[in-house]
Amino acid sequence: MIRSVKGTHDILPDQTWRWRKIESALHNFMQKYGYQEIRTPAFEKTELFTRSIGETTDIVSKEMYSWTDQGGENLTLKPELTAPVVRAFIQHNLGSQSAVNRLYYMDALFRRERPQKGRTRQFHQFGAEVFGSAHPEADAEIIAISYNFFKTLGIDNLTLTLNSIGSEECRQNYRNELRSYLKPFLSDLTETSQNRFKNNPLRILDTKIKYEKEIIKNAPDIDSFLTADDKSHFKEVKSLLNALSIPFTIDTQMVRGLDYYTRTTYEITSNALGAQDALCGGGRYDKLVETLGGKPTPAVGFAAGIERLLLALESKTSNFNDEPIQIYIVGMVEDARSVCQVLAQELRDQGFSVATDLLQRSLKSLLREANRNNVKIAIIIGDDELANNTVQVKNMETGEQTTIIINKLIEYLTDLDF
Ligand code: AMP
Repeated sequence: MIRSVKGTHDILPDQTWRWRKIESALHNFMQKYGYQEIRTPAFEKTELFTRSIGETTDIVSKEMYSWTDQGGENLTLKPELTAPVVRAFIQHNLGSQSAVNRLYYMDALFRRERPQKGRTRQFHQFGAEVFGSAHPEADAEIIAISYNFFKTLGIDNLTLTLNSIGSEECRQNYRNELRSYLKPFLSDLTETSQNRFKNNPLRILDTKIKYEKEIIKNAPDIDSFLTADDKSHFKEVKSLLNALSIPFTIDTQMVRGLDYYTRTTYEITSNALGAQDALCGGGRYDKLVETLGGKPTPAVGFAAGIERLLLALESKTSNFNDEPIQIYIVGMVEDARSVCQVLAQELRDQGFSVATDLLQRSLKSLLREANRNNVKIAIIIGDDELANNTVQVKNMETGEQTTIIINKLIEYLTDLDF
């Protein structure tokens, strides 16, 4: 038997309805904020990701699914969504059509990570990007969207962690300072961190290794390197979040895994999750549009993992239920079978969800199945009903059974209001 690839998962019918709930909640929610959906291809030129995410990041250095196609082109299944959205923004000149572009998306991503609970090799994200505003209102809007969406879905115990990593100028000074601090510990660091020391020392702050965490505890903080403009931007973001009643904590060592961020970075975690507790990450990236060949355009965005969101929602099943089929139609005799099919169609046209039996089973076994599937109504048609133009309507909750004249059936079912 051929099995699915390690780190990928089928989403089966007992789960797909939960995905649909999230998807439709997201579309409604984003519409309230005036965001428009964008969809980009599943794969892009590899260069798009190496240039934007950064050569020294985990994603680019070891996690991308890349290949050279039959035409010799280097391609990659998308490991994140901001770069493709920025590429589309530039390519289609969206910036010239409107001063501010508010975009959102939902998509599958691919990273060759070590699979574990909440971490897969194909996973799904939704996210939003706003292009064209360098002002703190845009940062606050993006943060509020992600935070409030989780709240709307009923996820409690959210922690929003916030930082400003400043502009590129201030990061250059900070990098040097961080190197000076780390130098005496260099031989104690892992090989990965030693490489990062050379190429991108900020990434060492992201370490998950306990003794490295101890070392960086006393590392200099980036906030003392922020320029006056960076500082006032950050101050305004914080005060807008306070005004919007969005609680946050500051972590001056949170740099996040992608290189393109400038100024605001943030993460939302939930203690309903295990080790992989990050629901969402985002931040400002004022240079990325330029880096990828567009006109200088400030931007800010976030991306959130749908699998993680579903894990966090697992304890919330009361708010989240699949809608069962409402009506089963059961034909008890051969002659009733086509009548059942036609009636099912008529009821569907009226907006009911209806199933008929495809296995020609007995009434008893069908009623048992209807009960198991939380069906509300069974409509039963036998010889007497055919002869009298009636149907039996059985309320599966109360067990009550009523004879109804067929041309009064829709009225009767509508009045039941189930
Ligand atoms: P990132 O694109 O790395 O900033 O991640 C944003 C969000 O995507 C994270 O907070 C997670 O919720 C989710 N995520 C990232 N990587 C994975 C993965 N391998 N499997 C499942 N979810 C992921």
